Amino acid sequence: MGIDYSEIGLKVGLEIHQQLNIKTKLFCNCSPALSKKEPEITFLRRLRPTQSELGQTDSAAFFEFQKGIKIQYEADRSTSCLVEMDEEPPHPLNMEAVEVVLTAALIMNMQPIDEIHVMRKTVIDGSNTSGFQRTCIIASDGWIKLGEKTIPIQAASLEEDAARKTGTQENGKTICYRIDRLGIPLIEVTTAPVINSPKEAQKVALVIGQILRDTGRAIRGLGTIRQDLNVSLTNGALIEIKGVQQLDLISKVVEYEVQRQLGLIQVKDELQSRGIKKTDLREDFIDVSKVFRETKCKVVLKAIDKGYAVLAVKLPKFQGILKHELVPNFRVGSELSDRAKFWGRVGGIFHTDEMPAYDITVKEIEAIRKITGAKKEDAVVFVADIEENVRDSLKAVINRAKEAIVGVPAETRTVKEDGTTRYMRPRPGAARMYPETDIPPLVITYDIVKKIRSKLPEPLEKKIERLMDKYNLNKKLATQIADSKFGGLFEVIVKQDEVTATTVAVFLTETLKSLKRDGIAIEKVTSTQIKDIFKGVALEKLAKEAIPDVFIWFSQNEGKNLADAIEALQLKMLSKVELTKLVNQVIAENKPSVDKMGRKAYGMLMNALMKEVRGKADPRIVSALLRERLK
Ligand SMILES: [Zn+2]
Repeated sequence: MGIDYSEIGLKVGLEIHQQLNIKTKLFCNCSPALSKKEPEITFLRRLRPTQSELGQTDSAAFFEFQKGIKIQYEADRSTSCLVEMDEEPPHPLNMEAVEVVLTAALIMNMQPIDEIHVMRKTVIDGSNTSGFQRTCIIASDGWIKLGEKTIPIQAASLEEDAARKTGTQENGKTICYRIDRLGIPLIEVTTAPVINSPKEAQKVALVIGQILRDTGRAIRGLGTIRQDLNVSLTNGALIEIKGVQQLDLISKVVEYEVQRQLGLIQVKDELQSRGIKKTDLREDFIDVSKVFRETKCKVVLKAIDKGYAVLAVKLPKFQGILKHELVPNFRVGSELSDRAKFWGRVGGIFHTDEMPAYDITVKEIEAIRKITGAKKEDAVVFVADIEENVRDSLKAVINRAKEAIVGVPAETRTVKEDGTTRYMRPRPGAARMYPETDIPPLVITYDIVKKIRSKLPEPLEKKIERLMDKYNLNKKLATQIADSKFGGLFEVIVKQDEVTATTVAVFLTETLKSLKRDGIAIEKVTSTQIKDIFKGVALEKLAKEAIPDVFIWFSQNEGKNLADAIEALQLKMLSKVELTKLVNQVIAENKPSVDKMGRKAYGMLMNALMKEVRGKADPRIVSALLRERLK
């Protein structure tokens, strides 16, 4: 089915968050690393409900909902200090991080602001110990090009990452967060909502991602980049989709969101044509536990055994609506279920559109219909759990059903691995910011901007072209080097030493990749050691063939130099005199064959010789000596 995205008024805006490779966190000197150890410290806080920050219908309910929630924070000393625990004021802004954001901003034609003010943005889920996230705008009003189209870039900000959720306890009433990620510097780049198709959204994200990589300071790997997408349709709603980690999933996420909204609009039209009004949907929860006294349904049986409640509610004229599929494996019933899970802390819901199923019989369904007074055109939803949770979940179901009559509810959703999304929470109102009074404003001087502008990184495409031109590399190798962290090292080595550029490039890309695959700790070898290896080759102290062996030895013997490696690996190059001796020896050992074959014995003899001298002599010299003697 082809969708005309301009006809339905698709608008997408991107918010790209990328972790920066900076030595310390944004507001303290902790290392910006995620801990793999068990937490050393845990402490409990209550969520600070923030009714004023939530927009529209759900705000009061969300306020009530939050009041009961406790947060358990987990920490260890190597990755967090009193700043992350909110026991000590933040230190001044990390200038290194500011410069990286300015670099990216200038590449995107943005205007640096005069004075940086760190602001507090209220956070409603407990993921920040302080109850807010610190953020500051560094530059605004830029643009990038996507083919012929200009994409306005609204802002480039520097912000702290949030704590990471590690689980829940007490039926979801306590949420656990690890605070090691808190304070890790992120750049946030916001585009204007001018993107009009799923593919275009992905392309824009790719271009911005490449610019961030061009700064040389973007961390790579899964979890280091997060895209939030703001997706809206003319007759739909503005949906905020959080946490897309793979660039190549963006187009699919947008496609599915469009499908979901179009599906919900269809559902709205159908419900309206059936003449349903919001007031028809009532919170009349009816006890249906007696229907299930002899049920085979394990979930319901278990709940009844525990003395829990089984309550049902009627959705007038909703028959058939709940099984309407919006995106693959996700129906209107799933929308209701998501809300029930979130607001009611239950595992899920049952509804008549999916029955008979889960060992619930037709007879049991008929009995439920009878008790709730449901007619053929009505649907019934029922839940088995702790009574308070059941009531909260059915309330959420009724609320969601009311929204279905109106259309697409604005909300914040989270993305799944397959590109579909799930309800995350109500959409907060426009984020209100407050100044962070603990951090003084920072002036961006003309000199700072001038310094950064003077050393802006080369865009990838240009760099590849230059490497091909200047060093005669093929396109594949030039691309690999340009896109690797060894681009700078490559040029230093090639400039200082008489080693061919291709040898160096192949080693820094393909050889290192395969050594890493073989389990060699390549990160343990310093760039000085790599430079020394090639200097050794240039000065004929080391054979080209010995480069990987020396590199591996360095990875296993930290802090050593080239002389140590040559000594330990017995790689001292043989002198011409020593080589001549060896050549004579090998010829003598194979005298009968040499006599018979004459010059044709060359191949066999060369093999025997190289076995002896590999890594200790230049094969070209060995070959020349051998040919001379054979003559
Ligand atoms: Zn810290």
